[in-house]
Amino acid sequence: MTIDDAPRDALRGGPRELLRWVATGAAVSRADLSRLSGLSPSTVSQRVEALISQGLLEETGAGRSRGGRRPRQLAVPTGGAVVGAIDLGAHHARVGALDLSGRVVQARTLPVRIEDGPEAVLGALLAEVTTLVGGDPMASPDGSAAGALRGVGIGIPGPVQHATGRIVSPSRMPGWNGFDVAAFCADRVDVPVIVDNDANLMALGAHRTAHPELDHAIYIKAGTGIGSGVISSGRLHRGAQGSAGDISHCRVVADPAPPCTCGNAGCLEAVASGAALVTALREQGVPVSDLTGVIRLIDDGDRQATALARQAGRAVGEILAVVVNFFNPQVVAIGGRLADCEPLLASMRATLYERCLPLATQTLLIERVAAGQDVGITGAAHLVIDHVVAPA
Ligand SMILES: [Zn+2]
Repeated sequence: MTIDDAPRDALRGGPRELLRWVATGAAVSRADLSRLSGLSPSTVSQRVEALISQGLLEETGAGRSRGGRRPRQLAVPTGGAVVGAIDLGAHHARVGALDLSGRVVQARTLPVRIEDGPEAVLGALLAEVTTLVGGDPMASPDGSAAGALRGVGIGIPGPVQHATGRIVSPSRMPGWNGFDVAAFCADRVDVPVIVDNDANLMALGAHRTAHPELDHAIYIKAGTGIGSGVISSGRLHRGAQGSAGDISHCRVVADPAPPCTCGNAGCLEAVASGAALVTALREQGVPVSDLTGVIRLIDDGDRQATALARQAGRAVGEILAVVVNFFNPQVVAIGGRLADCEPLLASMRATLYERCLPLATQTLLIERVAAGQDVGITGAAHLVIDHVVAPA
């Protein structure tokens, strides 16, 4: 069993958890860590020393004394950009350099032409990330462990086989099917590269920043495509191959059922994704070029666009109701560009309440992902940080 598969209780006081308590401010000393974990002071000290020697924790100044020697305070090194992150979208990519606490040091958005293929797109983005990290004035110039790049996390807007880092049958990504992202990157950067799908990155980023205390959560990413990420017992649940949470080809009630890129008809993605809304409006004779145009029409109260947004919200709500009844999460959060679309959100919420067991929705939080445009790169950084602290 790898540490990724271990139940959460078995990780109590593991290096990841010790680091997280310090990063979140729950602990500032070895004594705090001992109290929180229930581990003996000597075991905590051993683990803390190991984290310090890896450069993942540092000791700063001295804490408040209660008489006697003043205790040293623990902190996660901040400021140095040591984690690279790429959140690839259909038309743009957000790239960033983050520190070991998951804080964004530098980030920028770049236009992307997915159809240029994986070598060109990922090659350019990797070069950009290396520049961002290398260009960080806080990074150590001698390349010592304190400021050196520790790893790169990459989110792909399509299905990723987790064990291999390979893309499998993505929609709207011509030339990317079967591409081995991990191997391509391993030839170009000399640090661990972790690849996952964009919805999982959003889920991890949103969970760690907004609700780290909640154990069970569903995050829907609704943009050009549609997907979701699952947090179960406090950690990202990927399933056997990495496809857990991929709701894009679940069937919804739609008449007529629009054809999907997968070859079936009536898939959630063919009804409720941003790409589906663009297609449906064009078929009704409305000249929209992209999702931005659709959102503008909805914001302007356009009748056709609003009706489609409501239909999309019902479809998302239908699938989500099954997920909520089955999984019983504490929070369901929606992110991505369609999350700001009020008619979609309202009908999603109504369908969810209508179709769920009262016990499942009694205390269920339904909200927007609040972490903003850096949520994906934050999730990517946490993938890397978790891996560096305790490699699978
Ligand atoms: Zn489909």
